[in-house]
Amino acid sequence: MAVPHRHEAPPRPRGAKAAPEAAPQAAPAPDLAAKALAVHRLLCPVYGCPIPYFHALDPVSELVSSLLSHRTRNADSGRAFKALRARYPDWAALIAAPVPEVEATIAGVTWPELKAPRIQAVLAAVRERAGGLDLGFLAGMEVEAARAWLEAIPGVGPKTSAAVLSFSVLRMPALPVDSHHHRVAQRLGLIGPRVDVGPSHPILRAQLPADWSAQDLYDNHEILMLHGQRVCHHRNPACGACVLAEICPSARVA
Ligand code: SF4
Repeated sequence: MAVPHRHEAPPRPRGAKAAPEAAPQAAPAPDLAAKALAVHRLLCPVYGCPIPYFHALDPVSELVSSLLSHRTRNADSGRAFKALRARYPDWAALIAAPVPEVEATIAGVTWPELKAPRIQAVLAAVRERAGGLDLGFLAGMEVEAARAWLEAIPGVGPKTSAAVLSFSVLRMPALPVDSHHHRVAQRLGLIGPRVDVGPSHPILRAQLPADWSAQDLYDNHEILMLHGQRVCHHRNPACGACVLAEICPSARVA
């Protein structure tokens, strides 16, 4: 897979439609930017930044993996991904497969009946818009333009686009936000109580330094996600054991 340099002019893949312009990010309140940085500095030593990447997939494979992972435990989506890889020689074969067969192959994930046709439709859209099942050209685009290109495909949202750019071998500086990351950010007051996961992406990204590397943003996502899994639980957050308690408005410390 050819991965052009990030600062080259974006190539126009065969048959590709122009991506919509990315919306400019509003500047965050200075106190929230300072708080986001303080959170990062407090959590990094706890979880061991820099955190090793857990995937080294090509971006199309990362797209499939991300679509499988929604509302599904990592172990189950990982098994489903391996089952797809074992059953189909390539992603073109998956697109051509009968939907019930794909659904049965990914039966361990949440909503396989929805995810099977969605994955096939998303891959078919990539092939049509990019002129092939290769997203390596995204490396030559600015992050926001690459995200907009991906999110123009029905079924691809902000979390999936950020995951493709950050977790795949593209290693681009994009910030994914999952449900754990979102919950911790909400409790810390970095985002408002009514801001959903999708709209939280540009807000949380804008609070972090614009020149942060892919590894910095990956670390930020991972430490907030891990903190949500291990300390700031959905029910009964362990505030008494939390290094963020002093700066957290939701802290419940005896
Ligand atoms: S103090 Fe409590 S609510 Fe705040 S981040 Fe820590 S565990 Fe979560």
